[in-house]
Amino acid sequence: MSLADSLATIVGPEHVITDASMLASYETDWTGRFTGRALAAVRPRDTADVAAVIAQCADAAIPVCIQGGNTGLVGGSVPVDGAVLLSLSRLDRIGDVDTVAGQVTVGAGVTLARLQQHVRPLGFDFGVDFAARESCTIGGMAATNAGGERVLRYGTMRAQVLGVEAVLADGRAVSRLQGLPKDNTGYDVVSLLVGAEGTLGVLTKLRLRLVPLLAARAVALIAVDDTAAAVRLVQQARDTLPNLEAAELFFADGVTLVRRHTGLPAPFADEHPAYLLLECADRNDPSENLLELLESSADVRDATVASDARGRHALWLYREAHTESINAEGVPVKLDVAVPLRALADCVAKLPSAIPTGRAIVFGHVNEGNLHVNVLDARDDAHAVTDAVLQLVASYGGSISAEHGVGRAKQAWLGLSRSAEEIAMMRAIKDALDPRGLLNPGVLLPPA
Ligand SMILES: Cc1cc2nc3c(=O)[nH]c(=O)nc-3n(C[C@H](O)[C@H](O)[C@H](O)COP(=O)(O)OP(=O)(O)OC[C@H]3O[C@@H](n4cnc5c(N)ncnc54)[C@H](O)[C@@H]3O)c2cc1C
Repeated sequence: MSLADSLATIVGPEHVITDASMLASYETDWTGRFTGRALAAVRPRDTADVAAVIAQCADAAIPVCIQGGNTGLVGGSVPVDGAVLLSLSRLDRIGDVDTVAGQVTVGAGVTLARLQQHVRPLGFDFGVDFAARESCTIGGMAATNAGGERVLRYGTMRAQVLGVEAVLADGRAVSRLQGLPKDNTGYDVVSLLVGAEGTLGVLTKLRLRLVPLLAARAVALIAVDDTAAAVRLVQQARDTLPNLEAAELFFADGVTLVRRHTGLPAPFADEHPAYLLLECADRNDPSENLLELLESSADVRDATVASDARGRHALWLYREAHTESINAEGVPVKLDVAVPLRALADCVAKLPSAIPTGRAIVFGHVNEGNLHVNVLDARDDAHAVTDAVLQLVASYGGSISAEHGVGRAKQAWLGLSRSAEEIAMMRAIKDALDPRGLLNPGVLLPPA
């Protein structure tokens, strides 16, 4: 029996896809830059299915590449040639909200938007949010330790995931879903698997911390002169606004692209070099707090504030439509990086002359010094562009990956952010849990 046939006995023939035209959407990622040819795409329904599929593939020594919503931007979600592509999209069950603990257990394939719809009517919310919410899965978000727009207030996925169920490379399942906020009984296996980019195990269920739903919100779109002014304003906002939730930075060239692709009007009568979007959330309308900040700051060139849902959405679009608008211009080299906040302005200023070719559209989550650098028109120079940006970031003691992970795209540059000793430690952990290198080969670490 072929491997595809034996996998079909586990998940059902309709969930083993081998037809080339049907495989195509699994084989190329959201950016269109990363692609591979899978032996088959397999769609298990639950942890037991995943364990049986992984065990079969391990027996046949066939690598397994793991996919959630396929919105990851570093080439980690697509197969290597000849691998089995394991899609987690059918692990989409959501448990009842534990209103006493403020927690919920979900399948790895649940999308962020579905989780939000499930918990919000009960007065809860999820601490991580970003523009890919309709497609990205909780499993993929945990695997990449996703960040997004609310890290300022709630932290990254590591701070939200209290427990996991996972299948290891040999098909054994481990479960730690109690969700105890205090538990000091040895190595933190949950934290180890979160952010491991699927190199140590397949996450199948997650126990999540919820936060209170704060429905009263106010958003300010603020025109400023430059990055340094935005950083000063964020520092002031952090010091004076306890309900501050998001601080996003973007520039005039990005707004021009967004307006071209969305038809949005100009945000202000005059064009400005840089824009800062601040959001506050509370039980009562926080607009007053934002207005006080705007009045007291010397860095504000123009500003508009919205507290109704439509107005807030319209202001957020200037920021959230960046990724899709940039992609509509062509396939960019996308680099998600972080530098210490005090170096942010210098780094942004040096970027255009640092890249050997192309034009960089930059935006990001300013409080974490997190920049999304998108280089358009890089043609065949993706490697040189990547190298230039990551070297610049490393020169400030920054990180080559703030939130998307290392994937296959940045694996060769890991040494810029991690010491040889740390990489050797990561390799030892990988070898202990996946000695034959069958899970997500080439992601994060070079193949064994
Ligand atoms: C428009 C847009 C905006 C975005 N904004 C942000 C942002 O603000 N912040 C941010 O952090 N990211 C952002 N991203 C990137 C992306 O959405 C995140 O990395 C997200 O966490 C990926 O989830 P996914 O389900 O699509 O995972 P995939 O892309 O399918 O996979 C990502 C990685 O996780 C692994 N993986 C997936 N599921 C599992 C699992 N169950 N078990 C083990 N490994 C698994 C994959 O093998 C791969 O290595 C954005 C992407 C887009 C397209």
